Amino acid sequence: MDCIFCKIANGEIPSATLYEDDMFRVILDVNPASKGHALILPKEHAKDLYELSDETASRALTLARDMAAKMTDALDCEGLNLVQNNGEIAGQTVFHFHMHLIPRYRGDTVKVGWKPYRLTDEMKTELLSALK
Ligand code: AMP
Ligand code: ZN
Repeated sequence: MDCIFCKIANGEIPSATLYEDDMFRVILDVNPASKGHALILPKEHAKDLYELSDETASRALTLARDMAAKMTDALDCEGLNLVQNNGEIAGQTVFHFHMHLIPRYRGDTVKVGWKPYRLTDEMKTELLSALK
């Protein structure tokens, strides 16, 4: 399998690494949305959230928390978006699970958004019966 994030995560391709342990590598995004935009990459290949192992899934969020604290402290950002895309429809372009850590600054040009609409009673009933 020819997966660029497998190669980066496992050190076969050099990267701007902010953190590394036995399961993860955190790197700077090559096309950042804001100063310090980083990617959390598991070393074990999983295409997306659906394929993630229990261990990777649980450690990913504690690592995101720790990186967020470290980055906020070091970069003096005011907040941070944790973004994770699954599938082409959702904007995924590299099919190896990753999480974006996007530091937020006053006046930055980052856009993470959607146009909200009203949840009707009918929609609610349908969704609760499908998902509950
Ligand atoms: P996504 O759209 O969620 O799949 O995000 C993929 C991200 O990976 C984008 O923000 C790219 O800029 C970033 N990216 C792609 N190739 C590399 C690379 N070789 N090194 C660092 N970041 C990369
Ligand atoms: Zn991979």
